[in-house]
Amino acid sequence: MAKPKRAKAVGRGARARPAANSSRSSDSEDRRNGEWGRVVAHHGVAVLVRFDDESERQIWLVPGQQAVAGDRVVVVGERLSVEPAHGILRRRDTRGRDRTIAVNLDVLGIVVAPEPREPPGYIDRGFVIARAAGIEVVLIVNKLDLPGASELAERLTEIYGASSPVHGVSATTGEGIETISEALAGGRLGALVGPSGVGKSSLLNALVPDLELRVSALNRGSRKGRHTTTMATLNALPSGGFLVDTAGFKDFIAVDVDALEAASFFPGFETALEGGCRFRDCLHRTEPDCVVLAAVEAGEISPRRHRSYVELVDELTGSPRRSR
Ligand code: GDP
Repeated sequence: MAKPKRAKAVGRGARARPAANSSRSSDSEDRRNGEWGRVVAHHGVAVLVRFDDESERQIWLVPGQQAVAGDRVVVVGERLSVEPAHGILRRRDTRGRDRTIAVNLDVLGIVVAPEPREPPGYIDRGFVIARAAGIEVVLIVNKLDLPGASELAERLTEIYGASSPVHGVSATTGEGIETISEALAGGRLGALVGPSGVGKSSLLNALVPDLELRVSALNRGSRKGRHTTTMATLNALPSGGFLVDTAGFKDFIAVDVDALEAASFFPGFETALEGGCRFRDCLHRTEPDCVVLAAVEAGEISPRRHRSYVELVDELTGSPRRSR
């Protein structure tokens, strides 16, 4: 965790303000006179704000007010207004509730490793979720120091190289990790997602020098890592840019994505979809005169990639192989 600077004591008056003052868009006077900053950590009833002059201060939220890591905010006195956000990353928790993890993301780094391997369809789902939210994808193959990692990076470059950069890195040796900070240069916001144990915390530690994240030992029995972090925090990188530590982000669940849109975000379908299908509501599963199926037929999209897409769409529609 990045060590938050000592929070300034704030009076209860700020907390007791009515929720009406907590609208997401601040009025123009506040926007002119207030201090601009970004939420870097959420502490339940308060948020830690990093101001544009790089100072940090804790600000209480009024009851019902919502702000998450990445939010742009204007602070007047101890009153915080949250600006509208883009690049919203959500997941669904185990009780089926959608949780916003971070907002204003520019880059999503999907981290995989030769061990543990990600579940089937994990990367595709990451692409679809990120692109649907207007977030760029960077594919990161960690543990380049382990056998099989270079081959994995090569294989993934063949599949995804036309859709996103694929970077081979090692959190252990530091090899290639500058590619991650470069992707965030210029103050961009990024998050790393990936199955437990692929090395997300280790990469954060390697990229953010004073971070003291506890890195779990890989659980040898199940070959799965354990979660070591507990809440989303924004970490400033020395090279500029910020990395969100997406705590407890176990798996993707495709939320906010319409089955009809899934193909347009699916990696590898870009060229095929430049043409148009006969049906505007084509789901590219079994429909006649479908440009995706034609590309499969022509060997431009592998049957395996198409199967992975169909599985995702089946999941989104809840209807295996139902045509139109
Ligand atoms: P997370 O669950 O994705 O945050 O994964 P961790 O950062 O906790 O790492 C899981 C395990 O993988 C730990 O035992 C790390 O020491 C190990 N690990 C992380 N990065 C690397 C790497 O680049 N190479 C090797 N060999 N092991 C790594």
